[in-house]
Amino acid sequence: MIQLYIPLNFLGVLYREIKQSLTDLDKMFALLDKEREVADAPDAQPLRLDAAPDIRFEDVRFGYERDRDILHGVSFTIPAGKTVAVVGPSGAGKSTLARLLYRFYDVGRPGAGPHEPTGRITIAGQDIRHVTQDSLRRAIGIVPQDTVLFNDTIEYNILYGRPDAGHDEAVRAARAAHIHDFIARLPKGYQTLVGERGLKLSGGEKQRVAIARTLLKDPPILIFDEATSALDSANERAIQAELRQVARDKTTLVIAHRLSTVVDAHEIIVLEQGRVVERGTHAELLAAGGRYAQMWALQQNTAEQEDGHQVA
Ligand code: ATP
Repeated sequence: MIQLYIPLNFLGVLYREIKQSLTDLDKMFALLDKEREVADAPDAQPLRLDAAPDIRFEDVRFGYERDRDILHGVSFTIPAGKTVAVVGPSGAGKSTLARLLYRFYDVGRPGAGPHEPTGRITIAGQDIRHVTQDSLRRAIGIVPQDTVLFNDTIEYNILYGRPDAGHDEAVRAARAAHIHDFIARLPKGYQTLVGERGLKLSGGEKQRVAIARTLLKDPPILIFDEATSALDSANERAIQAELRQVARDKTTLVIAHRLSTVVDAHEIIVLEQGRVVERGTHAELLAAGGRYAQMWALQQNTAEQEDGHQVA
């Protein structure tokens, strides 16, 4: 059985990703709580997509547990081919939005009555509860906070984005994700073993592998869940540039744990305790002088301090 290097906070994603292709690994995850897993509706249809679809969160309400609501009616639209970024303090519910879009959970909360409002999420006008999970997940590429690497070759790890692709395509994707030169310098190149038992990659290198995977998958929808652990600023700027490249023409949801990735977003949503408290472009929100402007000022100060400058 393939051994896995599993950052724990990503176990859920990993489980579902693996389940799609490697059913023999099911046993390994038998201990996971599968009670709340979503299932296809009996009349589920494949998601119908033209080019890049629009995505709508309409009054979305959600709680993981019975008595604790996490999202209290969140609404926003990501127009086709545009990027919307969600920012806000830790615990606001940002990553939860990404989990709902990928349908790890359904909107609503456990134990809710039949008439309790849940809101809905649509992609190209289709409620995601009414489409097959398989078609939904094929349409979405995730660059997660913490990339899962299999204990296998680096090439295998890149091709995982689209297993029918070959070596040349893996190289092309690695070049576009700016990880090719690093791989080429390794003694065994693309055949180098990575993961827990092989070469350990840095956070930035792992994210580049995830970007290469996503480039190969070439989905119309992208979720970028920014790493909570800071990369050094040079690495971070480089990753952002690569991501902008990947996100071009795709409908993209950026979960920004810092503010560095959001400046160019079509719209920025400021989430606090499960509610949208501000929305607008970077310039509009700075001009408004509210929560976002405060967060931005705070982050600029921190960045200057990290760069070794004195802040008055
Ligand atoms: P951060 O920036 O720190 O990652 P976030 O805004 O992305 O925070 P979420 O991960 O969406 O926050 O979490 C929102 C709230 O939901 C938190 O209070 C968290 O404790 C809770 N939560 C997250 N996952 C679960 C879960 N699986 N079961 C129960 N509660 C959860």
